Amino acid sequence: MNNLLPYLTLSAAYILGHEPSAMSHKCQICSEITYEKTDRKGRIFHFCRNCRFISLDSSFFLTPEQEKKRYELHNNTLENQGYKKWLNSFIDQAVSPYVPVHGQILDFGSGPNPVLKILLEQKGFSVNIYDKYFYDVPFSGLYDTITATEVMEHIASPVQLLDTLKKSLKTKGHLAIKTEFRPDKDEDFLKWWYKEDPTHISFFSRHTFNILSDKIGLGVIFSDNFSIIIFRN
Ligand SMILES: [Zn+2]
Repeated sequence: MNNLLPYLTLSAAYILGHEPSAMSHKCQICSEITYEKTDRKGRIFHFCRNCRFISLDSSFFLTPEQEKKRYELHNNTLENQGYKKWLNSFIDQAVSPYVPVHGQILDFGSGPNPVLKILLEQKGFSVNIYDKYFYDVPFSGLYDTITATEVMEHIASPVQLLDTLKKSLKTKGHLAIKTEFRPDKDEDFLKWWYKEDPTHISFFSRHTFNILSDKIGLGVIFSDNFSIIIFRN
């Protein structure tokens, strides 16, 4: 059968189950059929018309070993004043206004240096951490707030992750996410610096997060429409 394929029309190939992958790719968030575009490095991205989610084709994903190595290169330490300032501004904007005094926080995806945990503890919060590569200890209990800074862009199955995190939130608990929102225009996305990090595979718009919130059963209570979104359980 395979040697006949070059002579079949596209629709015949489709019926025979040799559907080109681009035609069958479904959005991870809303299951709509996506369209694809290629950047100047030849990497393929899947774009969703419905929820505006963009994902890197899985054939370009790093291996877990390559991914871990890449995270170890980040200079995200307590001595890095720029990073500290960046995290403190996230705390002031997205955490402090919503967590009760002495509240319980889980920092999901803390990375090799749990700087956010230290800064939050300095403000009187009680903080647990989880990281797939650097602190893979199952988290239990219910939290007032879960933070995920620079995490969502690394996640291949965002719905699954948010479902899991919701189960660890107290009623009316908050999930504070920081990830750069995708540029509106596809051509701007294809030139965007943020997608150049080879560990960045998922890209969201404010609209994507609205669709996600409905799907997971979380309310959106704040967004700066740039890189922060806060859900309430
Ligand atoms: Zn979608």
